[in-house]
Formats: sequence, C-alpha cells, structure tokens
Amino acid sequence: MAGRIRQADVDEVKARTNIADIIGERVALKSAGVGSMKGLCPFHDERSPSFNVRPQAGFYHCFGCGESGDVYSFLRAMDHVSFTEAVERLAARIGYTLHYEDGGAAPEHSGRARLYAANAAAAEFFRGQLTSSEADIARRFLGQRGFDAGAAAHFGVGYAPKGWSSMHSALRSQGFSDEELSSAGLVSQGQRGVYDRFRGRAVWPIRDVTGQVIGFGARKLFDDDQGPKYLNTPETTIYKKAQVLYGLDLAKRDISREHRVVVVEGYTDVMACHLAGITTAVATCGTAFGSDHITVLRRVMGDDSTAGEVVFTFDPDAAGQKAALRAFADAKRFNAQTYVATGPEGLDPCDLRLARGDGAVRALVETKVPMVEFVLDQRISGFDLASVEGRVGALRAAAPVVAELRDRLLQPEYVRVLARRLGMDTEDVRREVDRAGRGGGVTRREAGAEPGPKPAPGVDPGMRVGIAELPRTPEAGLERDALMGVLQFGHRLDPALIERALEPPFRHPALDAVRIAVRGAADRKRPGWAIDAIDSVREPYRTLGAEMLAGDFPALSDDAAVASAGDLLRRLVMRALDREKAEMLGAIQRVPADSEEGRGIRIRLRELDAQRRTIADEA
Ligand code: ZN
Repeated sequence: MAGRIRQADVDEVKARTNIADIIGERVALKSAGVGSMKGLCPFHDERSPSFNVRPQAGFYHCFGCGESGDVYSFLRAMDHVSFTEAVERLAARIGYTLHYEDGGAAPEHSGRARLYAANAAAAEFFRGQLTSSEADIARRFLGQRGFDAGAAAHFGVGYAPKGWSSMHSALRSQGFSDEELSSAGLVSQGQRGVYDRFRGRAVWPIRDVTGQVIGFGARKLFDDDQGPKYLNTPETTIYKKAQVLYGLDLAKRDISREHRVVVVEGYTDVMACHLAGITTAVATCGTAFGSDHITVLRRVMGDDSTAGEVVFTFDPDAAGQKAALRAFADAKRFNAQTYVATGPEGLDPCDLRLARGDGAVRALVETKVPMVEFVLDQRISGFDLASVEGRVGALRAAAPVVAELRDRLLQPEYVRVLARRLGMDTEDVRREVDRAGRGGGVTRREAGAEPGPKPAPGVDPGMRVGIAELPRTPEAGLERDALMGVLQFGHRLDPALIERALEPPFRHPALDAVRIAVRGAADRKRPGWAIDAIDSVREPYRTLGAEMLAGDFPALSDDAAVASAGDLLRRLVMRALDREKAEMLGAIQRVPADSEEGRGIRIRLRELDAQRRTIADEA
C-alpha cells in the first residue's frame, strides 16, 4: 500500500478542481447571486433548495441540515469514498500525478476504486467481443430491434462469450484479483473456483450519474440458457439497484434542461427513445421504480420540478398497471407533474420504433395522461358502471386516490373528473372523497407545506444558531455582513483593515465566536483559508460560520462585493472610534481640565478625530 498523499498535491488538486463541476454532476445547481449556486440538498430530503455552493471558496453548505465542507468532504459523504480515494479520483480527472509520502507514485489500490476499474475493464472487454464471430447472435438480436453498430457503440453494448472464464482470464491478465472481480459482481463462486457471471448474453454497461460503469444488465440469447431473461449485477458497494437508472449519464443534461424525464422499462426502450430524439429517457434496472429513484431524479431535475414533468411508460398489461399504481404511491413525493403514456396496441418504445419509426416514439410521449387519471381509470375499471352497486363500489375504490392528492387545488377538479367518469352527482363524489380523506386517520399537511429543517445530527436544536437566529438589530446586521464579506472576499481585502475592524469584541456570542476564528486566520490569500477558519469556530457556533461562508452576500459583481465588504469593515472601525470618543467625552467631564489625565484624554480625542477623517477619506 502506498503512503499518504503529499499535502501539496492534496491542495493543488483541490485548487484546480471546480467544486461546482463535481457537485453539479450529481445535483442540479442554479446561479444564486454573485459567486454562489443553489440546488436541492443531496444529504436531506427537501423541496426547495437550501444547498449552497461557493465555487470561489471551494465550499458547500446546506442551510437545512447543516452539512458542509470542501470538495473532498462532498465526495466522501456523497459517494462514500475514503479521503485518499477522493483525492485520487479528482487527480485522475484532471490528469494530475500524485506523489505519496513514501516516495511511491502508485495509486492506492483501495476497494471502491478497484471496483470501478474492474467494471470499466469488463465493459471494454464485452464491447470488444461484440465483433467476434460467436457474437453473431447478439448482433442479430440488436439488428432485429433496429440497432446498428453505431447505436450499439453509442450505448457501449457488448457481448459476454459463452465460455465460463473468458472475461475472468482477460481481467486476471490485467491484474484484477478474484476477490476484486467477485466484489464487483463480475464472477460467481462455484465449487471449483470462480466463473463468469454473464455468459452468452448481450450486455449493457450501467453507468452512474457521472458516467462511471458500476454494473451490467445482460439479456439471454441462447435457448439452452437456463437463466432468467435479464440478469443484472448483484448488489455491490457501488451498484445499488434501488438507486440505479439506466441511461441517466446520457440523459441528465437534457433532464435538467427540459425539466422532463421519461421513465421506460428496459435497456432497449432507453436506446430506442434516445435514438428517436427523446434524450431524457431512463429505465430502472431489474427493479420497480421506487422512492430512491425519485430522490436521484429530483436531484438532477432541481427544485423547479413544479414546472417539470415525469412521464412513465407502462405496458397496459396487468404487471404494467401494478407498476403504475406503485409508482403513483411514490410519485406523490415529486413536485413534478406525473403522467403515464401507453403506446398504441400496448407497444413499448422499442417495438413502436421498429413498427412505426422515430416519429411514433416522440408521439407516444405526447399522448401522456395525468397519472391521477390513469390510476383512477385503473381503480374503476373492474366495476360494472351500469349498475348502482358497481358505481358505488367504483367510487369507494377511487375516492382515496383523489383524497390523497398533494395539490389541494387539483382536488375539486378531480372530483368533477371522477363524477363524470362514474356518471354520478358531484356532491356525492365530494362527500365520499372527504370521508376517504378523514378515514385514513393520517393528518395531511396543507398543499406544498414543508417539514421544518432538521437539525444537524448531534447538535442540540436549542443551541444551534444560524443566520436566521441572529438578532435583527443594525448592530448585529453590520457585524454579520462584515464577517460574511471577509469570509467570502477576504483574499482581496486589505489585511490591516480586517485586523483593525475585527479587533474589538462583538456583543453577540455567536458573532463574536466567528469574529475570533476569522481574525485568527493566518493567510487569507491561501485558497481554502475560509473553510479552515470556520472549522475553528467554537461550537455550537460552527454552523453559523458555515452559513456565513455559504450565504448570499448581496452584490452585483465580485468587484462590487469587494468594495462593499471594505465599506462594512470601515464602518466597524468607525463604530469603534465613535464608541471610544463617546467614552472620552463622558470621562473628560469628570476630570479637572488642567490635570494630566484631562490632557491625555484631549490628545486621544484629537487622535480619534484624525483616525475618523482618514477612514472617511478611504471610503
Ligand atoms: Zn441538507
């Protein structure tokens, strides 16, 4: 094992990496004022963004849950990698060669990094095999579904040979151990050793949101294959099927731009959609669409998901209906409008593209109906609406769906829709919906109501002080803004001015704790100094420091921000001078004018006036 990474390299990689790029790969970020970006926090569940990123400071902070740190702590918290792995990953990204304390330059062969490497090597191997003669059956399979060599290459589709150890030997010769291949889910353990998990199958590499291969989906091709039609990578440390969406790496940019995502059922459906121009299509991998998928998608779509839409394509068969109902239960967590699109004659996007071309796939998405309507129709479809009993039964089955609508404005509308579908009186339907709403015994929040922010774990909520908890006095406001200015633009401010302005104590203990930490910073030109400074804020006030580093410092440009931070510091200096002057004027009343002390006070008063003039001139 190589030793520690040299600190200079750690700093250099951090300085050369834009934290907004790294976070932006996982969370949709929007510009929020000068030097600041905002998105939905990936560390807690929220519907309006309180997750701030400041690229210049290399810092992020969530005003909701209090998570904060630099790009390394983000990767550690988000991707569960070690510190060393986080540095190695970012170094690899910018092509920077790291040096280790023991002199070695070999990257540390730690668990997760090796799993990514093994998956990437396997993807490469499978892709190469697709041109072999044995893979003829795979090429025909793809061709029959309308995918030529170019399409296969775009999605990295490959072929896993029938032999029991083709991939195994190829990756062994590249230096991967059986243990690594087994942890990556690429081989299975048999009585006589390990063997390839995927054999005689068409293989789709499954990538995470950043484009790294984390696993595979493999379809059976041979009749004598006893296995299931689709076989996936088992759960590994990097492959969690509940969170994986096939195609997300290709779709994420357009999902976040168009605020739309199309959820289809299989790998070939994702391919068909993308080739037909629906570049926002993704699919779950060997599992139903669930709440973890929603969390992943919400992060990519950003907070504007009220304007966004999620279109599910389901087979109108029984399994598809069940999937829709399940998705409906979960989709209530979306702010987005959810829709269901079903193809003509129940054709899925892949078959539809084959039968009727790209235009038909694009049209499919436009035939969407609101998911509520789709679910209502499912609920009432089993009843004979010609009979009174049938209508009453259908009403009982459908009313809870309307009662549970998150958006209270939609409820009266769907009461009318349901009444029309059932041919019943609107008032009767309304009463049943109200009854269903109460019957659940669940207290419903008002539409759009947010749960309050959760306090950071381990912090007594009574103790936690954030910007919002500070007193709303001009005095505290000045101190707060000046500290924010130094934390965010300190590298461009005059150190002597900072020292002078932050010398006198602040009255509020939280602001004073931040003042002490900011004043104690050795070198404010060094990148990352502010993060270290807030780390040294004494508890329980560290959160306040983090909020001040992340918060919006109102200004139209960097230069304007620097200028106004300077003004704030001068006002602090002026305030201290004024206070001392007031004290002196009080004191001079109490001492004889011709005494030693009186003379001293008068000299000091003249000095104070001179200093006030200098400060005023600087402004
Ligand atoms: Zn948070």
